[in-house]
Amino acid sequence: MTADQPGSTRGADSAEEADVVVLGMGPGGEYAAGCLAEAGLSVVGVEARLLGGECPYWGCVPSKMMIRAADLLAEGRRIPGMAGAATVSPDWRPVARRIRDEATDNWDDKVAVDRFTGKGGRFVRGRGRLTAPGEITVDTAGGRRVIRARRAILINTGTAPAIPPVDGLAGTPYWTNREAIETEKVPGSLIVLGGGSIGAELSQMFARFGARLTVVEAAERLIPMDEPEASALLAEIFGREGITVKVGTAAAGVRYDGHGFALTLAGGETLTADRLLVATGRKTGLAELGVAAVGIDPRARVIDVDDRMRVVLPGGDPAGHGAGPDGGAGLWAIGDVTGKGAFTHVSMYQADIAMRDILGLGGPSADYHALPRVTFTDPEIGVVGLTEAQAAAQGIAVRTGFTDVPSTTRGFIHKAGNDGFIKLIEDRGRGVLVGATSVGPWGGEVLGALAVAVHGRMDTERLAQMIFAYPTFHRGIEAALQDLRSNQR
Ligand SMILES: Cc1cc2nc3c(=O)[nH]c(=O)nc-3n(C[C@H](O)[C@H](O)[C@H](O)COP(=O)(O)OP(=O)(O)OC[C@H]3O[C@@H](n4cnc5c(N)ncnc54)[C@H](O)[C@@H]3O)c2cc1C
Repeated sequence: MTADQPGSTRGADSAEEADVVVLGMGPGGEYAAGCLAEAGLSVVGVEARLLGGECPYWGCVPSKMMIRAADLLAEGRRIPGMAGAATVSPDWRPVARRIRDEATDNWDDKVAVDRFTGKGGRFVRGRGRLTAPGEITVDTAGGRRVIRARRAILINTGTAPAIPPVDGLAGTPYWTNREAIETEKVPGSLIVLGGGSIGAELSQMFARFGARLTVVEAAERLIPMDEPEASALLAEIFGREGITVKVGTAAAGVRYDGHGFALTLAGGETLTADRLLVATGRKTGLAELGVAAVGIDPRARVIDVDDRMRVVLPGGDPAGHGAGPDGGAGLWAIGDVTGKGAFTHVSMYQADIAMRDILGLGGPSADYHALPRVTFTDPEIGVVGLTEAQAAAQGIAVRTGFTDVPSTTRGFIHKAGNDGFIKLIEDRGRGVLVGATSVGPWGGEVLGALAVAVHGRMDTERLAQMIFAYPTFHRGIEAALQDLRSNQR
């Protein structure tokens, strides 16, 4: 092996040791690294881009700032017929400014780095990879560094946009979420490839700022992981807002002529737009992470972890969990790379468990039965636990309950923009909720009550005895429960 070969540690400019090395510092990695440093361990945090990861710089926070602005525009457009007259003139400049100044410090992580080093952590900017059990090699601007962990390596490398192998796409100036978040201008027209959560959120947001929008989804419906009723409602609302929705059709080819894109669909139709945003999923890139050095298949999609975030090797062997000077360093992983749900709240939840495990503190282990997620379209789509199809796939005999938001008192009062529904999934045998979807104004907030019920495995009879404040959106849960209890199917 030569010093240039991946995996080689020869030619390293320095070698150092630490109790814990955190490789990749997404939200969970940042949190765990800070806690471990505060607990008195020597901690090295390795980050190739910005400390804090995708969420604060190209994900949740800036995208939700954009959506907040787009929702204000939509509310302004709802004034006629409800409260007078309004002229709404979108202006992207305050949005771009807010993202640059308030959300991302112009994509500068100095504050986060200072916060971490202030807790006693050592920060290394560079791309790292596993080169042996307990060992990371990092390519930094100043040269290659080898860092050996005495107690633990914690992987939190997240995901990057996955680019599909569409003819002609490579080499064109297509956008991913990163360029979309950084843009100083709303394109005149935009094709969004991918109608999952990220694609749907960004589509509606850019359309509300005036982009002529087409969203293309290979599956038969938008947000295909969610309840079909949510997909149908979203497609109807997108249609009403002038967004063209193409589902059940894959991209076959892309051309870029220096000014705009032409996207040919599998059926032969060609769409044109100024910009093309690729939002077709995320990839973990395990091969580049050097996972083979610790016995993980580099072709795997995710790193398998147990309920304490300890990496599980093929064959079920724990990855050297001596977790100490004599037993060798153990290997933990958290966040998107574990495949348990690509959300900031999962990363943070797992970080707490991993951090406690590394410190030998015990405490509860991971349980995902009430995992919540929200797609921040308007209406918001909140989901907790299982969908009806997922419950059925697990062999659960389900009973469902449903209510439309417009038929509730609060929905009637709200009127403009009141689209939505609540759907409950009961495990009929046990009489407990195992999942729920809440779509509507503040659908993600209404989800809170349903998440408590699923988390607590609450008996639906007992839930139905609750007093629901009048006239709230969450009172729709009572109507959905009545429907569920009357449903003998
Ligand atoms: C547009 C968009 C909107 C989103 N909205 C939401 C939302 O509303 N709510 C929500 O919960 N989630 C949302 N997400 C998902 C959320 O951003 C992630 O789940 C979250 O960031 C947690 O990811 P993570 O902890 O796995 O690490 P990430 O945030 O992915 O960070 C991983 C870090 O590791 C670094 N890294 C990778 N490889 C290496 C290496 N070899 N060496 C050194 N460093 C490396 C990366 O540079 C990165 O900084 C959104 C994502 C996107 C793209």
